[in-house]
Amino acid sequence: MFEHLGSRLDHALKRLRGRAVLNERMIDEGLRDIRRALLEADVNFKVAKGFLAKVRERALGKEVLKAVRPGQQLVKIVHDELAALLGEGEAELNRAKHGPTVILLVGLQGSGKTTSAAKLARLLSTSGFGLGGRGSGGGRPLRPDSILLAGCDLQRPAAVEQLRILAGRVGASFVAGEPGGDPVRAAERARFEARGRSALIVDAAGRLQIDSGLMAELAAIRDATRPHETLLVADAMTGQDAVNIASGFKERIGITGVILSKLDGDARGGAALSILGVTGTPIKFVGTGEDIRDLQRSDPERLAGRILNMGDVVGLVERAQTAVDEEKARAFEARLNQSGRFTLEDLLEAMQQVRRMGPIDQLMRLVPGASRFKLPAGDSERRAKHMEALILSMTPEERRAPEIIDASRRARIARGSGRPVAELNRLLKQHRRMSSLMPRMMKMAASGKGELPGFANPKLLR
Ligand code: GDP
Ligand code: MG
Repeated sequence: MFEHLGSRLDHALKRLRGRAVLNERMIDEGLRDIRRALLEADVNFKVAKGFLAKVRERALGKEVLKAVRPGQQLVKIVHDELAALLGEGEAELNRAKHGPTVILLVGLQGSGKTTSAAKLARLLSTSGFGLGGRGSGGGRPLRPDSILLAGCDLQRPAAVEQLRILAGRVGASFVAGEPGGDPVRAAERARFEARGRSALIVDAAGRLQIDSGLMAELAAIRDATRPHETLLVADAMTGQDAVNIASGFKERIGITGVILSKLDGDARGGAALSILGVTGTPIKFVGTGEDIRDLQRSDPERLAGRILNMGDVVGLVERAQTAVDEEKARAFEARLNQSGRFTLEDLLEAMQQVRRMGPIDQLMRLVPGASRFKLPAGDSERRAKHMEALILSMTPEERRAPEIIDASRRARIARGSGRPVAELNRLLKQHRRMSSLMPRMMKMAASGKGELPGFANPKLLR
């Protein structure tokens, strides 16, 4: 469904992506085209505005990669920000700590709730998402018959029948209230019947539009079933309406995620790109057809790739970024070799480098011999920030020759960083131990026995 938006973005970026120079004026021109493409695709006005501001900021402030053209780098930025609009990595499902995980599906009539309930049951029975509770492991599939599909749309007899047939196709268990009966009573009963099972999926009634009767009924069903996930099924074809509907349900029922259905249609994409930005609720699944298999976990990177269709350029820039990091690691290594000294500046740089690559805990594991030192317990990320603050409060001279740090300098550094002197003392002691190990490590590396261990080795950083 992103074809049109994709081709418009392609068009806007094509002119820029080959450029060896990109100045502010060119970037702004490109952004104007992108803006038009987004609004035409029915992306929410505010979301589009925020998106463009972020792309602009990154495009103007970026670190220049030698191996790629600025225009190519811009493509990568647009790609990354598109992915950010769609979410942060593959969405997870909340699950029960004990007993069945309860998933309530809400939405307007015809949005695809009943179909999605069955699709979701099938997906759980093939991949599980770790919903099986204790001991079921991360992704172990659920047994189909341990999933209970509950029909609580009792207004139309056909609705219950539809769910019964679909449940049969999936092999899931099924329960429903009497046609015309009380949906809240049916929901209570379903919650009771779900004991001992792994999941309960509740298919509730919808109306043609949001009205207070529907909201009251859904709130009562919610209270009766105490869902771990309340998923709004929204029709992508309705564009901005889907976004408004999501806002309404979020406000009144409190949804935890969205299933965006009918992504296979010729919708323009605006709903997909706006829902998270407007409602703060992520799209967790996308429906891509009428078949029971046509439901996928939402994957922002992949969707962004489908919109932009410039995977070659994005991949190229990613590889160039990796190369820059490796280059820095090599320069760092060369400097260490040259001076044979491991200064506080080196420590700071290493910390910042590792930090960019992941949890700081790794730093200490990568520093040769560091595992032998007892590091203070606590949040390592915060600790690293404190260490950084301490080093940054030193003069360059102090960083290179820590032995000159006397009592009065200690007091000044501690004050400047807002950390206690004792912490500074600990840092200096740790650094002394590390640097005493360095010459040995260097010699080992020079003798060609294997590779240089520790954070100077780019391979170990990944
Ligand atoms: P409900 O009223 O919300 O329960 O909606 P239904 O589940 O009955 O679906 C309404 C119609 O939309 C049915 O004809 C479904 O086959 C169709 N539908 C649901 N999801 C999708 C989807 O992802 N793609 C397409 N093309 N059709 C869908
Ligand atoms: Mg239905």
